[in-house]
Amino acid sequence: GLDSANSRVLVVGAGETGLSVARFLDAQGIRFAIVDSRAKPPLLDKLLENLPDAAVFTGGFDADAFKVATHLIVSPGVSLREDSIVKAHAQGAKIIGDIDLLAACAAAPIVAITGSNGKSTVTTMLGAMAKEAGKKTAVGGNLGTPALDLLAPDIELYILELSSFQLERTEILNASAATVLNISPDHLDRYDNVAEYAREKQKIFRGTGAMVLNADDPLVIDMAVPGRKISTFSINSEAEFHLAWDGHKGYLMQNHKRLMMLDELPLEGLHNAANALAAIALGTAIGLDEQSMCKALKKFKGLEHRMQRVAVKNGITWVNDSKATNIGACVAALEGYTRQVILIAGGDAKGADMNELVPAIQRKAKSVILMGKDGPLIEQALNGSVPIYKAENVARAVKIAAEIADEGDTVLLSPACASLDQYKSYKERGEKFATAVMELNA
Ligand code: ADP
Repeated sequence: GLDSANSRVLVVGAGETGLSVARFLDAQGIRFAIVDSRAKPPLLDKLLENLPDAAVFTGGFDADAFKVATHLIVSPGVSLREDSIVKAHAQGAKIIGDIDLLAACAAAPIVAITGSNGKSTVTTMLGAMAKEAGKKTAVGGNLGTPALDLLAPDIELYILELSSFQLERTEILNASAATVLNISPDHLDRYDNVAEYAREKQKIFRGTGAMVLNADDPLVIDMAVPGRKISTFSINSEAEFHLAWDGHKGYLMQNHKRLMMLDELPLEGLHNAANALAAIALGTAIGLDEQSMCKALKKFKGLEHRMQRVAVKNGITWVNDSKATNIGACVAALEGYTRQVILIAGGDAKGADMNELVPAIQRKAKSVILMGKDGPLIEQALNGSVPIYKAENVARAVKIAAEIADEGDTVLLSPACASLDQYKSYKERGEKFATAVMELNA
C-alpha cells in the first residue's frame, strides 16, 4: 500500500481520473507529482485551482519524475506500453490503479460491471434499482464521476462501470458482485488480440464475490470459476435469468418465476432485455428486492446516443446510436430490427476487422451510407453486396438518407467505429446527427 513517509506517487495523465487521484493523494497526505504528454491538458487549470501546490509536468513525460517514483497511477487513456512506463516499471516502480485505491478505502460493498457493450446501460439500471430500494448508492467509474470522487463515509453501495483499461491496472477489487456482459472485438489498436482483451476484462472477478455471466457469450461463460457463487443470464436459453415467450408476449424470468413483461421495459432492442436481466442478476446477488428492481426498470428512460429515437418525419424514423463505437454494438442494433434499415456507419475502426459486420449488414440493411476514415474498410468488406453511398460527415449522411428513404423506413446511425477521426466524441457525432435531422424539411 501507499504510505506518507516513503511513497512517491507519479500520477500519469491529467484528465478526470488523474485529477480525482491527485485530490485523493493530497487528502491522504501522500507525496505525488503529475505528468501529462500534452502541453496543455484540458483540465490543467482546474487541477491547479484545486491543488495549487501540486508538482505538474506537461508537454512530455518528464524522465526525472519517473525516476524517483515508487508508484505509478496511470490514467486509463495512457497505454501501459508507453516507453517511460515500461522503463519505470522495470526499475521497480509499482503500477497501481485508482480502482485499487477505492477498493482499499471503501467501507461498503462494490458491484463492478464491464463488457464490450451495455456497461453504461446496466450500471445506470442497477443504480436506479438500488435507489428505488432505498440504498444510499454511489454510481460512477468509467461513466460519470471518477471512482475516487465517489468515496464518502455514508455510502451503502458502490456501483462501478469499469473499462478494460481500468481493469488492466487493478489488482484487488474483490467486488461483492461483478459481471462481464459480453466480449466483442474492440480496442484492438491497444491489445494484441481478442484473447488478451478478454483476459483484462476477466480481472473484474478477482476475489471471492458473486459472478454474473452471460450464457449467450462463450468467451464470458468460460470465465466461470469453480466454487464461486455464479448466476447466469441469457436471452436465448434457459439460464437462471432468461426470457420466456407466450406467443408474442415475452417475460423476464428468474428460473420458473415471471418477474415482469418484456413490453414493460421501455427500451428498444433485445440486447436491452439482456442488459435488464444482467442488472436483475447483479441486484439479486447483493440482496435488492424484486419489486424495487422491476419498478426501476419499468420507468428506466435509457441513455442518450444509445438506440435513441430522435424524430419521425415524413414517415421516416431516425435513430441515434452514435455510442455504437464497435462492431458488437452495431450488430446488436441491426439484429434488433425485423425490417431492413438504412444504416449510417464508419469512423475510426480502431483496428477491428470490418468483415465481421458483413452478415448483419447484408441481412438487415437495404443500403449503407459510409463516412469517416475507415468507411472504405466497410466498403471493401461489403464488396458490392449492398448499395453504398459516401458522405463527408454525419450531417451530409443525413441529407443523403433523406433523399433515398421511403415512407416507413428507419435510418439508423450506428457507426461500428469511434468518432475521434472527425469529432470530439460520440456525443458530438450524435448531436450533429440529431441537429441535421431537425433541420430537414418536414
Ligand atoms: P458501454 O458503456 O459498454 O459502451 P452502453 O450502454 O453505453 O455501453 O451502449 C453502447 C452501445 O452498445 C450502444 O450502441 C448500445 O445500443 C449498444 N448496446 C447496449 N447494450 C448492448 C448489449 N448488451 N449487447 C450489444 N450491444 C449493446
